[in-house]
Amino acid sequence: MPESLFKRLCESAIDAGAYRSNVITTDKIVTDRAFRGMCEANRCGVYGKCWMCPPDVGDIDELMSKVREFRYALVYQTVTELEDSYDFEGMIAAKKRTYPLSRSLRRLFEGDEFVGVLHLGAGGCGVCEICAKQTGETCRFPGLAMPSLEAYGINVSKLAEASGMKYINGQNTVTYFGAVLFTLRSDKQA
Ligand code: SF4
Repeated sequence: MPESLFKRLCESAIDAGAYRSNVITTDKIVTDRAFRGMCEANRCGVYGKCWMCPPDVGDIDELMSKVREFRYALVYQTVTELEDSYDFEGMIAAKKRTYPLSRSLRRLFEGDEFVGVLHLGAGGCGVCEICAKQTGETCRFPGLAMPSLEAYGINVSKLAEASGMKYINGQNTVTYFGAVLFTLRSDKQA
């Protein structure tokens, strides 16, 4: 593994606002199609209302296979303090703060050494206040749109464990995860 590159990626993620970050190989990522059933239960209320969410994001088996097409994942987390465990507004605000972080991480992967980058975030896409799916339009920002880890069937608690991070970071805090899956050009040439 190119350790100096991975160290630089992790440090850049921390500088951009992540609490912790780590690079793992994608063979350590656990996927489970049962996560699609959780989306279908629609507890978030966004099922069928965002191009980056199920069912529009794609077939769960195909998306889980897609994860295996990449060699590495830069996994990162944010941790935000809440007023109390019922502070739902604080949870939503904390989630919104992950979006600019996620976008700034994209720039780390614009170099020629990367091929086939896939960025997965926390929860729904979040780029637009109201997704174009709800107004009958095509996606307004396909270059920025970001599906969630769960939409690809990724078990986030196991992802945290594989990345050496805590899934829960203490009372009255909320933790969100994201991951940039990538392959290096040198991997393709090997
Ligand atoms: S970028 Fe906007 S229109 Fe496209 S999927 Fe995300 S929220 Fe919807």
